[in-house]
Amino acid sequence: MNAPVSLAPFPALSIYPDRFEAQGSFAEAQKAFLDPDPAEVSRLGVALRASNAGVVAHFYMDPELQGVLTRSDWPFIHISDSLMMADRAIEMAQAGAKVIIVLGVDFMSENVRAMLDASGFAHVPVYRVAAVPIGCSLAESAEAPAYAAYLRRASQTPRSLHVVYINTSLITKASAHAVVPTITCTSSNVIKTVLTAFAQVPEAHVWFGPDTYMGQNLETLFGSLPDLPDEVIAKLHPDHTRESIRALLPRFHYFQQGTCVVHHLFGAEVAERVRTEYQGAFVTAHLEVPGEMFAVALDAQRQGRGVVGSTSDILGFIAARVERQVAKREGTTLRFVLGTEAGMVTSIVERVRTTLSRARDAGGPEIVVQIVFPVASDAVAASPNAELGIVPGVAAGEGCSTAGGCATCPYMKMNSLDALLALLDRLPAPAGSLTPFEPRKYLEPVAGRTAAELGGEPILHMRALQQSGRLPPLLVDQVLGTARVRADTP
Ligand code: SF4
Repeated sequence: MNAPVSLAPFPALSIYPDRFEAQGSFAEAQKAFLDPDPAEVSRLGVALRASNAGVVAHFYMDPELQGVLTRSDWPFIHISDSLMMADRAIEMAQAGAKVIIVLGVDFMSENVRAMLDASGFAHVPVYRVAAVPIGCSLAESAEAPAYAAYLRRASQTPRSLHVVYINTSLITKASAHAVVPTITCTSSNVIKTVLTAFAQVPEAHVWFGPDTYMGQNLETLFGSLPDLPDEVIAKLHPDHTRESIRALLPRFHYFQQGTCVVHHLFGAEVAERVRTEYQGAFVTAHLEVPGEMFAVALDAQRQGRGVVGSTSDILGFIAARVERQVAKREGTTLRFVLGTEAGMVTSIVERVRTTLSRARDAGGPEIVVQIVFPVASDAVAASPNAELGIVPGVAAGEGCSTAGGCATCPYMKMNSLDALLALLDRLPAPAGSLTPFEPRKYLEPVAGRTAAELGGEPILHMRALQQSGRLPPLLVDQVLGTARVRADTP
Protein backbone atom coordinates (compact mmCIF):
# COMPACT_ATOMS: atom_id res chain seq x y z
CA MET A 1 0.00 0.00 0.00
CA ASN A 2 1.27 3.48 -0.82
CA ALA A 3 2.35 5.66 2.08
CA PRO A 4 0.57 9.00 2.47
CA VAL A 5 2.76 11.99 1.73
CA SER A 6 2.20 15.27 3.51
CA LEU A 7 2.30 18.27 1.18
CA ALA A 8 2.88 21.77 2.49
CA PRO A 9 1.87 24.17 1.21
CA PHE A 10 -1.26 23.04 -0.66
CA PRO A 11 -0.94 22.58 -4.45
CA ALA A 12 -1.51 25.85 -6.31
CA LEU A 13 -1.77 27.17 -9.85
CA SER A 14 -0.60 30.72 -10.61
CA ILE A 15 -2.27 32.37 -13.60
CA TYR A 16 -0.46 35.04 -15.64
CA PRO A 17 -1.83 36.68 -18.82
CA ASP A 18 0.22 34.32 -21.00
CA ARG A 19 1.33 31.36 -18.86
CA PHE A 20 0.75 29.25 -15.79
CA GLU A 21 2.97 28.11 -12.97
CA ALA A 22 2.05 25.01 -11.03
CA GLN A 23 3.13 24.27 -7.50
CA GLY A 24 2.77 20.61 -6.57
CA SER A 25 1.95 17.57 -8.64
CA PHE A 26 -1.80 17.95 -8.37
CA ALA A 27 -1.64 21.46 -9.84
CA GLU A 28 0.80 20.22 -12.52
CA ALA A 29 -1.82 17.71 -13.62
CA GLN A 30 -4.49 20.44 -13.85
CA LYS A 31 -2.13 22.77 -15.74
CA ALA A 32 -1.32 20.17 -18.37
CA PHE A 33 -4.84 20.36 -19.78
CA LEU A 34 -5.30 24.13 -19.85
CA ASP A 35 -3.55 24.64 -23.17
CA PRO A 36 -4.84 21.68 -25.19
CA ASP A 37 -3.40 20.26 -28.39
CA PRO A 38 -4.84 22.35 -31.31
CA ALA A 39 -5.25 19.14 -33.35
CA GLU A 40 -7.61 17.76 -30.68
CA VAL A 41 -9.56 21.04 -30.63
CA SER A 42 -9.93 20.95 -34.41
CA ARG A 43 -10.92 17.26 -34.46
CA LEU A 44 -13.68 17.88 -31.92
CA GLY A 45 -14.93 20.98 -33.80
CA VAL A 46 -15.19 19.04 -37.08
CA ALA A 47 -17.10 16.20 -35.40
CA LEU A 48 -19.52 18.58 -33.65
CA ARG A 49 -20.19 20.51 -36.85
CA ALA A 50 -20.78 17.32 -38.84
CA SER A 51 -23.52 16.19 -36.49
CA ASN A 52 -24.79 19.67 -35.54
CA ALA A 53 -24.56 18.63 -31.90
CA GLY A 54 -24.89 20.82 -28.83
CA VAL A 55 -22.80 20.05 -25.75
CA VAL A 56 -23.74 21.05 -22.23
CA ALA A 57 -21.09 20.22 -19.64
CA HIS A 58 -20.75 20.66 -15.89
CA PHE A 59 -17.97 22.72 -14.27
CA TYR A 60 -16.64 19.52 -12.62
CA MET A 61 -15.95 17.85 -15.97
CA ASP A 62 -12.71 16.07 -16.73
CA PRO A 63 -10.09 18.86 -17.13
CA GLU A 64 -8.68 17.42 -20.37
CA LEU A 65 -12.12 17.47 -21.95
CA GLN A 66 -12.94 20.92 -20.52
CA GLY A 67 -9.68 22.30 -21.89
CA VAL A 68 -10.53 21.15 -25.42
CA LEU A 69 -14.18 22.27 -25.18
CA THR A 70 -13.14 25.71 -23.94
CA ARG A 71 -10.83 26.27 -26.91
CA SER A 72 -13.39 25.18 -29.54
CA ASP A 73 -15.18 27.88 -31.58
CA TRP A 74 -18.27 25.69 -32.15
CA PRO A 75 -21.14 27.88 -30.84
CA PHE A 76 -23.19 25.06 -29.24
CA ILE A 77 -20.87 24.40 -26.30
CA HIS A 78 -21.69 25.46 -22.78
CA ILE A 79 -20.00 24.74 -19.42
CA SER A 80 -21.81 25.75 -16.24
CA ASP A 81 -23.55 24.57 -13.09
CA SER A 82 -26.44 22.13 -13.41
CA LEU A 83 -29.15 24.81 -13.32
CA MET A 84 -27.91 26.53 -16.46
CA MET A 85 -27.17 23.32 -18.36
CA ALA A 86 -30.87 22.61 -19.08
CA ASP A 87 -31.59 26.24 -20.02
CA ARG A 88 -28.71 26.31 -22.49
CA ALA A 89 -29.77 22.96 -23.98
CA ILE A 90 -33.20 24.45 -24.70
CA GLU A 91 -31.58 27.51 -26.33
CA MET A 92 -29.39 25.26 -28.47
CA ALA A 93 -32.43 23.25 -29.60
CA GLN A 94 -34.23 26.52 -30.43
CA ALA A 95 -31.20 27.62 -32.46
CA GLY A 96 -31.20 24.40 -34.49
CA ALA A 97 -28.98 21.88 -32.67
CA LYS A 98 -30.06 18.41 -33.84
CA VAL A 99 -28.88 16.52 -30.78
CA ILE A 100 -27.79 17.45 -27.24
CA ILE A 101 -24.89 15.68 -25.54
CA VAL A 102 -24.70 16.02 -21.75
CA LEU A 103 -21.30 15.78 -20.08
CA GLY A 104 -22.05 15.24 -16.44
CA VAL A 105 -23.67 12.66 -14.21
CA ASP A 106 -27.01 10.99 -14.85
CA PHE A 107 -29.29 13.33 -12.92
CA MET A 108 -28.04 16.14 -15.20
CA SER A 109 -28.92 14.35 -18.44
CA GLU A 110 -32.28 13.39 -16.92
CA ASN A 111 -32.89 17.01 -16.02
CA VAL A 112 -31.96 18.18 -19.53
CA ARG A 113 -34.25 15.51 -21.06
CA ALA A 114 -37.18 16.50 -18.80
CA MET A 115 -36.78 20.22 -19.56
CA LEU A 116 -36.46 19.71 -23.33
CA ASP A 117 -39.61 17.56 -23.23
CA ALA A 118 -41.45 20.24 -21.25
CA SER A 119 -40.33 22.92 -23.74
CA GLY A 120 -41.57 21.15 -26.90
CA PHE A 121 -38.25 19.53 -27.90
CA ALA A 122 -39.09 15.88 -27.19
CA HIS A 123 -37.89 15.11 -30.75
CA VAL A 124 -34.32 16.30 -30.01
CA PRO A 125 -32.26 13.31 -28.82
CA VAL A 126 -30.24 13.64 -25.60
CA TYR A 127 -27.19 11.42 -25.10
CA ARG A 128 -24.66 10.72 -22.36
CA VAL A 129 -21.18 9.58 -23.38
CA ALA A 130 -21.19 6.33 -21.40
CA ALA A 131 -23.32 3.24 -22.00
CA VAL A 132 -23.22 2.46 -18.25
CA PRO A 133 -24.82 4.46 -15.43
CA ILE A 134 -22.88 7.57 -14.31
CA GLY A 135 -23.85 7.73 -10.67
CA CYS A 136 -23.40 10.22 -7.85
CA SER A 137 -22.88 9.32 -4.19
CA LEU A 138 -25.27 12.06 -3.13
CA ALA A 139 -28.05 10.97 -5.50
CA GLU A 140 -27.67 7.41 -4.21
CA SER A 141 -28.07 8.49 -0.60
CA ALA A 142 -31.57 9.77 -1.44
CA GLU A 143 -32.54 6.29 -2.67
CA ALA A 144 -31.76 4.65 0.69
CA PRO A 145 -34.52 3.58 3.14
CA ALA A 146 -33.37 6.30 5.55
CA TYR A 147 -34.50 8.96 3.07
CA ALA A 148 -37.91 7.33 2.70
CA ALA A 149 -38.23 7.42 6.50
CA TYR A 150 -37.25 11.12 6.50
CA LEU A 151 -39.97 11.85 3.94
CA ARG A 152 -42.52 9.85 5.95
CA ARG A 153 -41.83 12.15 8.92
CA ALA A 154 -42.34 15.12 6.62
CA SER A 155 -45.59 13.73 5.23
CA GLN A 156 -46.94 13.32 8.79
CA THR A 157 -46.16 16.96 9.62
CA PRO A 158 -48.77 19.54 8.52
CA ARG A 159 -47.71 22.27 6.03
CA SER A 160 -44.56 20.48 4.91
CA LEU A 161 -42.53 21.35 1.82
CA HIS A 162 -39.71 19.09 0.67
CA VAL A 163 -36.85 21.04 -0.97
CA VAL A 164 -34.87 18.44 -2.88
CA TYR A 165 -31.41 19.14 -4.22
CA ILE A 166 -31.18 18.72 -7.98
CA ASN A 167 -28.45 16.09 -7.51
CA THR A 168 -31.06 13.32 -7.30
CA SER A 169 -32.68 10.99 -9.82
CA LEU A 170 -36.12 11.52 -11.32
CA ILE A 171 -37.39 8.49 -9.39
CA THR A 172 -36.32 10.18 -6.13
CA LYS A 173 -38.07 13.39 -7.12
CA ALA A 174 -41.23 11.54 -8.23
CA SER A 175 -41.43 9.26 -5.17
CA ALA A 176 -40.87 12.22 -2.86
CA HIS A 177 -43.41 14.44 -4.62
CA ALA A 178 -45.97 11.65 -4.34
CA VAL A 179 -45.84 11.86 -0.53
CA VAL A 180 -44.72 15.45 0.26
CA PRO A 181 -45.14 18.53 -1.99
CA THR A 182 -41.66 18.91 -3.47
CA ILE A 183 -39.66 21.60 -5.22
CA THR A 184 -36.18 21.10 -6.68
CA CYS A 185 -33.31 23.46 -5.88
CA THR A 186 -29.69 23.93 -6.86
CA SER A 187 -26.89 25.41 -4.79
CA SER A 188 -27.43 28.71 -6.68
CA ASN A 189 -31.05 29.10 -5.57
CA VAL A 190 -31.46 27.04 -2.39
CA ILE A 191 -31.30 30.02 0.02
CA LYS A 192 -33.86 31.93 -2.00
CA THR A 193 -36.10 28.85 -2.29
CA VAL A 194 -36.17 28.16 1.45
CA LEU A 195 -36.67 31.82 2.42
CA THR A 196 -39.40 32.27 -0.21
CA ALA A 197 -41.22 29.20 1.09
CA PHE A 198 -41.18 30.55 4.64
CA ALA A 199 -42.25 33.99 3.41
CA GLN A 200 -45.24 32.64 1.48
CA VAL A 201 -46.26 30.03 4.08
CA PRO A 202 -44.97 31.41 7.40
CA GLU A 203 -46.04 28.30 9.39
CA ALA A 204 -44.41 25.87 6.92
CA HIS A 205 -41.95 23.10 7.77
CA VAL A 206 -39.18 22.91 5.16
CA TRP A 207 -37.45 19.54 4.75
CA PHE A 208 -34.19 19.86 2.83
CA GLY A 209 -32.25 16.90 1.45
CA PRO A 210 -30.30 14.84 0.73
CA ASP A 211 -27.04 16.81 1.20
CA THR A 212 -26.24 16.81 4.91
CA TYR A 213 -23.39 19.30 4.75
CA MET A 214 -25.48 21.74 2.75
CA GLY A 215 -28.34 21.30 5.22
CA GLN A 216 -26.00 21.97 8.16
CA ASN A 217 -24.51 24.97 6.40
CA LEU A 218 -27.94 26.41 5.66
CA GLU A 219 -28.90 25.97 9.31
CA THR A 220 -25.68 27.74 10.35
CA LEU A 221 -26.29 30.52 7.86
CA PHE A 222 -29.92 31.06 8.87
CA GLY A 223 -28.92 30.82 12.55
CA SER A 224 -26.39 33.61 12.08
CA LEU A 225 -28.82 36.01 10.37
CA PRO A 226 -30.63 37.26 13.52
CA ASP A 227 -27.29 38.84 14.55
CA LEU A 228 -27.41 41.04 11.45
CA PRO A 229 -29.44 44.23 10.85
CA ASP A 230 -32.82 43.86 9.10
CA GLU A 231 -31.45 45.78 6.07
CA VAL A 232 -28.84 43.08 5.48
CA ILE A 233 -31.43 40.30 5.84
CA ALA A 234 -33.71 42.15 3.39
CA LYS A 235 -30.98 41.84 0.77
CA LEU A 236 -31.25 38.05 1.04
CA HIS A 237 -35.05 38.18 0.95
CA PRO A 238 -37.16 41.35 1.14
CA ASP A 239 -39.97 39.72 3.16
CA HIS A 240 -37.72 38.58 6.02
CA THR A 241 -36.54 40.25 9.21
CA ARG A 242 -34.53 39.07 12.24
CA GLU A 243 -37.82 38.12 13.86
CA SER A 244 -39.13 36.05 10.96
CA ILE A 245 -35.77 34.27 10.62
CA ARG A 246 -35.72 33.44 14.33
CA ALA A 247 -39.26 32.08 14.02
CA LEU A 248 -38.46 29.78 11.08
CA LEU A 249 -35.34 28.16 12.55
CA PRO A 250 -37.12 25.32 14.46
CA ARG A 251 -39.07 24.42 11.30
CA PHE A 252 -36.06 24.04 8.99
CA HIS A 253 -35.06 20.36 8.83
CA TYR A 254 -32.32 18.57 6.90
CA PHE A 255 -31.48 14.94 6.15
CA GLN A 256 -28.62 13.60 8.29
CA GLN A 257 -27.11 10.89 6.07
CA GLY A 258 -26.39 12.30 2.60
CA THR A 259 -22.81 12.99 1.54
CA CYS A 260 -20.97 13.91 -1.65
CA VAL A 261 -17.63 12.06 -1.75
CA VAL A 262 -15.90 15.11 -3.23
CA HIS A 263 -16.92 17.76 -0.76
CA HIS A 264 -16.44 15.34 2.13
CA LEU A 265 -12.72 15.94 1.56
CA PHE A 266 -12.75 19.49 2.90
CA GLY A 267 -12.79 18.38 6.53
CA ALA A 268 -11.44 19.77 9.80
CA GLU A 269 -7.75 19.24 8.99
CA VAL A 270 -8.01 21.12 5.69
CA ALA A 271 -10.11 23.90 7.22
CA GLU A 272 -7.60 24.39 10.04
CA ARG A 273 -4.72 24.69 7.59
CA VAL A 274 -6.66 27.20 5.49
CA ARG A 275 -7.44 29.24 8.60
CA THR A 276 -3.86 29.30 9.93
CA GLU A 277 -1.65 29.11 6.83
CA TYR A 278 -3.66 31.15 4.31
CA GLN A 279 -4.70 34.17 6.35
CA GLY A 280 -4.17 36.66 3.54
CA ALA A 281 -6.04 34.60 0.96
CA PHE A 282 -9.62 34.88 -0.26
CA VAL A 283 -11.54 31.76 0.73
CA THR A 284 -14.32 30.20 -1.34
CA ALA A 285 -16.49 27.26 -0.32
CA HIS A 286 -19.33 25.43 -1.99
CA LEU A 287 -22.49 25.07 0.12
CA GLU A 288 -21.88 21.31 0.05
CA VAL A 289 -18.58 21.35 2.00
CA PRO A 290 -18.36 20.17 5.64
CA GLY A 291 -19.13 22.69 8.37
CA GLU A 292 -15.52 23.44 9.37
CA MET A 293 -14.57 24.62 5.89
CA PHE A 294 -17.90 26.40 5.50
CA ALA A 295 -17.27 28.30 8.74
CA VAL A 296 -13.86 29.48 7.54
CA ALA A 297 -15.34 30.74 4.26
CA LEU A 298 -18.38 32.29 5.98
CA ASP A 299 -16.03 34.22 8.29
CA ALA A 300 -14.05 35.32 5.25
CA GLN A 301 -17.25 36.36 3.46
CA ARG A 302 -18.26 38.56 6.41
CA GLN A 303 -14.88 40.28 6.19
CA GLY A 304 -15.24 40.76 2.41
CA ARG A 305 -12.54 38.13 1.77
CA GLY A 306 -14.58 35.18 0.63
CA VAL A 307 -17.78 33.62 -0.60
CA VAL A 308 -19.98 30.66 0.24
CA GLY A 309 -22.40 29.51 -2.42
CA SER A 310 -22.71 27.66 -5.70
CA THR A 311 -20.06 27.02 -8.33
CA SER A 312 -21.37 30.07 -10.20
CA ASP A 313 -21.10 32.20 -7.05
CA ILE A 314 -17.47 31.09 -6.62
CA LEU A 315 -16.64 31.89 -10.24
CA GLY A 316 -18.42 35.24 -10.02
CA PHE A 317 -16.62 36.18 -6.79
CA ILE A 318 -13.16 35.41 -8.19
CA ALA A 319 -13.90 37.24 -11.44
CA ALA A 320 -15.19 40.32 -9.57
CA ARG A 321 -12.16 40.48 -7.24
CA VAL A 322 -9.78 40.29 -10.19
CA GLU A 323 -11.73 43.00 -12.05
CA ARG A 324 -11.59 45.19 -8.94
CA GLN A 325 -7.80 44.79 -8.72
CA VAL A 326 -7.43 45.62 -12.43
CA ALA A 327 -9.51 48.77 -11.93
CA LYS A 328 -7.20 49.82 -9.05
CA ARG A 329 -4.20 49.50 -11.41
CA GLU A 330 -2.01 48.02 -8.66
CA GLY A 331 0.23 45.03 -9.31
CA THR A 332 -0.16 42.17 -6.79
CA THR A 333 -0.81 38.46 -6.32
CA LEU A 334 -4.41 37.60 -5.50
CA ARG A 335 -4.67 34.20 -3.82
CA PHE A 336 -7.94 32.23 -3.77
CA VAL A 337 -8.52 28.99 -1.86
CA LEU A 338 -10.83 26.84 -4.03
CA GLY A 339 -13.23 25.05 -1.71
CA THR A 340 -14.92 22.92 -4.34
CA GLU A 341 -14.20 20.28 -6.99
CA ALA A 342 -10.90 20.95 -8.80
CA GLY A 343 -12.53 20.80 -12.28
CA MET A 344 -13.78 24.36 -11.65
CA VAL A 345 -10.28 25.59 -12.41
CA THR A 346 -10.77 25.44 -16.21
CA SER A 347 -13.61 27.97 -16.16
CA ILE A 348 -11.79 30.13 -13.61
CA VAL A 349 -8.63 30.19 -15.72
CA GLU A 350 -10.61 31.08 -18.84
CA ARG A 351 -12.31 34.02 -17.16
CA VAL A 352 -9.24 35.27 -15.26
CA ARG A 353 -6.81 34.96 -18.16
CA THR A 354 -9.04 37.10 -20.38
CA THR A 355 -9.17 39.82 -17.72
CA LEU A 356 -5.42 39.71 -17.07
CA SER A 357 -4.60 39.85 -20.80
CA ARG A 358 -6.87 42.86 -21.25
CA ALA A 359 -5.22 44.61 -18.31
CA ARG A 360 -1.72 43.87 -19.61
CA ASP A 361 -2.62 45.06 -23.14
CA ALA A 362 -3.89 48.31 -21.60
CA GLY A 363 -0.48 48.83 -19.99
CA GLY A 364 -1.55 47.86 -16.47
CA PRO A 365 0.81 46.47 -13.81
CA GLU A 366 1.33 42.72 -13.39
CA ILE A 367 -1.43 41.00 -11.48
CA VAL A 368 -1.05 37.30 -10.72
CA VAL A 369 -3.96 35.13 -9.66
CA GLN A 370 -3.13 32.04 -7.63
CA ILE A 371 -5.69 29.25 -7.18
CA VAL A 372 -4.97 27.06 -4.15
CA PHE A 373 -6.35 23.50 -4.09
CA PRO A 374 -6.88 22.64 -0.41
CA VAL A 375 -6.41 18.92 -0.95
CA ALA A 376 -6.15 16.82 2.22
CA SER A 377 -2.79 15.13 2.67
CA ASP A 378 -4.44 11.71 2.58
CA ALA A 379 -5.80 12.44 -0.90
CA VAL A 380 -2.26 12.61 -2.25
CA ALA A 381 -0.07 9.54 -2.24
CA ALA A 382 3.32 8.40 -3.49
CA SER A 383 3.03 6.08 -6.49
CA PRO A 384 6.10 4.26 -7.77
CA ASN A 385 4.30 3.60 -11.07
CA ALA A 386 3.27 7.14 -11.83
CA GLU A 387 5.43 9.29 -14.02
CA LEU A 388 5.28 12.13 -11.52
CA GLY A 389 6.09 9.93 -8.53
CA ILE A 390 3.14 11.39 -6.66
CA VAL A 391 -0.49 11.31 -7.72
CA PRO A 392 -3.61 12.73 -6.16
CA GLY A 393 -5.34 9.69 -4.70
CA VAL A 394 -4.58 6.83 -2.42
CA ALA A 395 -3.73 4.36 -5.12
CA ALA A 396 -4.72 5.87 -8.43
CA GLY A 397 -5.49 9.10 -10.22
CA GLU A 398 -8.99 9.78 -8.94
CA GLY A 399 -7.88 11.86 -5.99
CA CYS A 400 -9.90 9.91 -3.44
CA SER A 401 -8.93 9.57 0.22
CA THR A 402 -9.40 6.72 2.66
CA ALA A 403 -11.64 9.07 4.62
CA GLY A 404 -14.18 8.92 1.78
CA GLY A 405 -13.49 12.15 -0.08
CA CYS A 406 -12.09 12.89 -3.52
CA ALA A 407 -10.17 15.85 -4.87
CA THR A 408 -12.01 15.33 -8.14
CA CYS A 409 -15.36 13.66 -8.76
CA PRO A 410 -14.79 10.09 -10.01
CA TYR A 411 -18.28 10.01 -11.55
CA MET A 412 -17.80 13.20 -13.55
CA LYS A 413 -14.50 11.84 -14.82
CA MET A 414 -16.36 8.99 -16.53
CA ASN A 415 -16.88 11.56 -19.31
CA SER A 416 -13.76 11.64 -21.48
CA LEU A 417 -12.75 13.28 -24.74
CA ASP A 418 -12.33 9.86 -26.38
CA ALA A 419 -15.82 8.83 -25.31
CA LEU A 420 -17.30 12.06 -26.70
CA LEU A 421 -15.50 11.65 -30.04
CA ALA A 422 -16.57 8.00 -30.26
CA LEU A 423 -20.19 8.99 -29.69
CA LEU A 424 -20.02 11.76 -32.31
CA ASP A 425 -18.60 9.24 -34.78
CA ARG A 426 -21.81 7.26 -34.47
CA LEU A 427 -24.11 10.22 -35.27
CA PRO A 428 -26.59 10.40 -36.87
CA ALA A 429 -27.58 7.07 -35.38
CA PRO A 430 -30.29 4.67 -36.60
CA ALA A 431 -33.28 4.62 -34.22
CA GLY A 432 -32.63 2.51 -31.14
CA SER A 433 -28.93 2.00 -31.78
CA LEU A 434 -27.81 4.39 -29.03
CA THR A 435 -30.41 3.47 -26.41
CA PRO A 436 -27.79 2.73 -23.69
CA PHE A 437 -26.49 6.28 -24.13
CA GLU A 438 -29.89 7.90 -23.59
CA PRO A 439 -30.98 9.14 -20.16
CA ARG A 440 -33.12 6.59 -18.35
CA LYS A 441 -36.77 7.07 -19.34
CA TYR A 442 -38.49 6.43 -15.96
CA LEU A 443 -41.73 5.12 -17.43
CA GLU A 444 -42.64 3.20 -14.26
CA PRO A 445 -45.82 4.49 -12.60
CA VAL A 446 -45.66 6.57 -9.43
CA ALA A 447 -48.96 7.81 -7.95
CA GLY A 448 -50.73 7.13 -11.23
CA ARG A 449 -48.28 8.95 -13.50
CA THR A 450 -44.93 8.05 -14.99
CA ALA A 451 -41.96 8.74 -12.75
CA ALA A 452 -40.61 11.02 -15.48
CA GLU A 453 -43.75 13.19 -15.49
CA LEU A 454 -44.18 13.35 -11.74
CA GLY A 455 -40.42 13.78 -11.12
CA GLY A 456 -40.32 16.60 -13.67
CA GLU A 457 -42.94 18.57 -11.72
CA PRO A 458 -40.61 19.65 -8.84
CA ILE A 459 -38.15 20.85 -11.49
CA LEU A 460 -40.90 22.87 -13.19
CA HIS A 461 -41.81 24.38 -9.79
CA MET A 462 -38.18 25.48 -9.45
CA ARG A 463 -38.24 27.07 -12.90
CA ALA A 464 -41.48 28.89 -12.02
CA LEU A 465 -39.82 30.23 -8.84
CA GLN A 466 -36.81 31.32 -10.88
CA GLN A 467 -39.05 33.23 -13.28
CA SER A 468 -41.59 34.81 -10.89
CA GLY A 469 -39.71 34.91 -7.58
CA ARG A 470 -42.59 33.05 -5.92
CA LEU A 471 -43.66 29.47 -5.28
CA PRO A 472 -46.34 28.51 -7.82
CA PRO A 473 -49.90 28.74 -6.37
CA LEU A 474 -50.58 25.02 -6.87
CA LEU A 475 -47.53 24.10 -4.79
CA VAL A 476 -48.57 26.53 -2.04
CA ASP A 477 -52.03 24.93 -1.98
CA GLN A 478 -50.42 21.50 -1.71
CA VAL A 479 -48.28 22.66 1.23
CA LEU A 480 -51.37 24.14 2.92
CA GLY A 481 -53.20 20.85 2.35
CA THR A 482 -55.91 22.40 0.20
CA ALA A 483 -54.66 20.54 -2.91
CA ARG A 484 -53.02 17.15 -3.31
CA VAL A 485 -50.35 15.81 -5.66
CA ARG A 486 -52.60 13.54 -7.71
CA ALA A 487 -52.53 11.59 -10.92
CA ASP A 488 -54.30 14.42 -12.71
CA THR A 489 -52.11 17.25 -11.37
CA PRO A 490 -51.20 19.29 -14.44
S1 SF4 B 1 -19.26 16.13 -7.06
FE1 SF4 B 1 -19.74 14.08 -7.88
S2 SF4 B 1 -20.43 12.86 -6.09
FE2 SF4 B 1 -20.47 15.03 -5.48
S3 SF4 B 1 -22.60 15.68 -5.83
FE3 SF4 B 1 -21.41 16.21 -7.69
S4 SF4 B 1 -21.67 14.40 -9.03
FE4 SF4 B 1 -22.29 13.76 -6.97
